[in-house]
Amino acid sequence: MKLKAFAKINLSLRVLSLRDDGFHNLESLMQSVSLCDYVTVEFAASGIEVTCDDPRVPVGPKNIAYKAAEKLLGMSDEVSGVRVHIEKRIPMAAGLAGGSADAAAVLFGLNSLIPRTSQLTPKKLLDLGGQIGSDVSFCLTGGICLVEGRGEKVTQQEPWPKTYFILVKPDFEVSTKWAYEEFDKMFLPKADAPLAHNEGKNYLELPVIGKFPEIGRIKEKLLALGCSEAQMSGSGPTVFGVVNKRADAEVILEKIKKEYTRSYLVETIEKGIEALTPNPSSRGRGA
Ligand code: ATP
Repeated sequence: MKLKAFAKINLSLRVLSLRDDGFHNLESLMQSVSLCDYVTVEFAASGIEVTCDDPRVPVGPKNIAYKAAEKLLGMSDEVSGVRVHIEKRIPMAAGLAGGSADAAAVLFGLNSLIPRTSQLTPKKLLDLGGQIGSDVSFCLTGGICLVEGRGEKVTQQEPWPKTYFILVKPDFEVSTKWAYEEFDKMFLPKADAPLAHNEGKNYLELPVIGKFPEIGRIKEKLLALGCSEAQMSGSGPTVFGVVNKRADAEVILEKIKKEYTRSYLVETIEKGIEALTPNPSSRGRGA
């Protein structure tokens, strides 16, 4: 079964407090966008195999898609082995949740291949997603969602009218862990009080741009080219610019691509995963 696994952007990202488990409590408005990886899942006689067409992506147990397959295998008597292949199109370590999208596609895809009576419920799938990574629950839900806690509490919102975004990925990567550590150094209060920082829509921008000023320059360029807003997604370094009309977005893309080759025109999507090949268990008897 082949699936599209959509990237996300953070329309807003507020870091509320540091938790006892070392993660942060967040409040983020996330939106699925049309840039996607292609994930193929199939049953095998035994074991888990994860392959990817991009050699920079870890394969085997270090791939988050492997963890997803392992979790589902542990929950279902129907599956004894799994093969996953990822066609990587979402830039890595870019604040676009590419890995989480792949993991969500594996959970959703494998569950769809199981006979309907043995499938996990959507709620159980979301619980499993939450155990695998912070953004997996969102990627399973998709569309536009308010995401809270460490990412496990996901509430879908009314979709926006179709909106276009220019994504610009500069030539460096930002580790999510590092970005939160920088945030903590800058803003963590001594007491347990909620964090006081409230500048901008993405609280991680200030600490990340401090180390990578290029991100601030891309924001300015996108605004100068006509985007109505420009902001860093997640822990960066990808910046998105908001555009209402596709024709305007195409002009901006052409200009920004001259300087940043890894720029993309994407649009709002109302789901996180899309099955491209028919789902066998959804066919009626005798089909
Ligand atoms: P987020 O926005 O959720 O913080 P991100 O877009 O910044 O995520 P990812 O692309 O998901 O980051 O990957 C972060 C790291 O995870 C990579 O550097 C890579 O080593 C590792 N990784 C494991 N599995 C995958 C996968 N399937 N795709 C991409 N990276 C993966």
